[in-house]
Amino acid sequence: MTRAEIFEFFRRLAEANPDPQTELEFGNTYQLLVAVVLSAQSTDVGVNKATRALFAEVRTPAQMVALGEEGLRRHIKTIGLFNSKAKNVIALSEILIRDHGGEVPADRDVLTELPGVGRKTANVVMNCAFGAETFAVDTHIFRVGNRTGLARGKTPLAVEKHLEKKVPAPFRVGAHHWLILHGRYVCKARTPECWRCPVADICRYKAKTPEPGSIASVAAKAAKRKPAGKRSKERSA
Ligand code: SF4
Repeated sequence: MTRAEIFEFFRRLAEANPDPQTELEFGNTYQLLVAVVLSAQSTDVGVNKATRALFAEVRTPAQMVALGEEGLRRHIKTIGLFNSKAKNVIALSEILIRDHGGEVPADRDVLTELPGVGRKTANVVMNCAFGAETFAVDTHIFRVGNRTGLARGKTPLAVEKHLEKKVPAPFRVGAHHWLILHGRYVCKARTPECWRCPVADICRYKAKTPEPGSIASVAAKAAKRKPAGKRSKERSA
């Protein structure tokens, strides 16, 4: 995509959603960090269900340590990998108390030294809590970046590096949310909803999905249903 196209791509996503927010629920930066750690390979909806009761009880690392690993496990047992996540959350809470005065450090490198906190988690916290221009490449951003031609790369880090270089100034803080929400609700993994996509004319993805019920959609379905032998006979006739 050209610089002008990238600007227009984000301008349209921003116009549709001027104040994008994470869908994880939290009341302070520490709760955000815990929610993001719990969300690895889980949905935000599932994490929110578990953390509503947990966060009513636990607002600080000290309260988490007091709750203990077993108590935390009881709250989050509906979330995937809850055993290792409980271990990590207790361990990171102890480190926050011991080394950071009970505060979440506003430094990506320091964050990634905490148990259970990888680059993506640190990028989310830096962006959502501290307004940093970071791009947390999850499965949605990785797909949207590659599909659209906005930021192509074989690894999440490669896509992140492209985004760092290419996203224009007015959109750098919100880009992470716009791309996630676009991937989650429009540019979906199995069937991207191209017919209602605000950036369809800019996107480089060739096999765009036609509107359900349209002539193009019916024709595409019919072509898929025909056996290969029949299609080749038709072509040679
Ligand atoms: S046109 Fe389709 S593939 Fe391209 S961004 Fe929109 S939904 Fe995704």
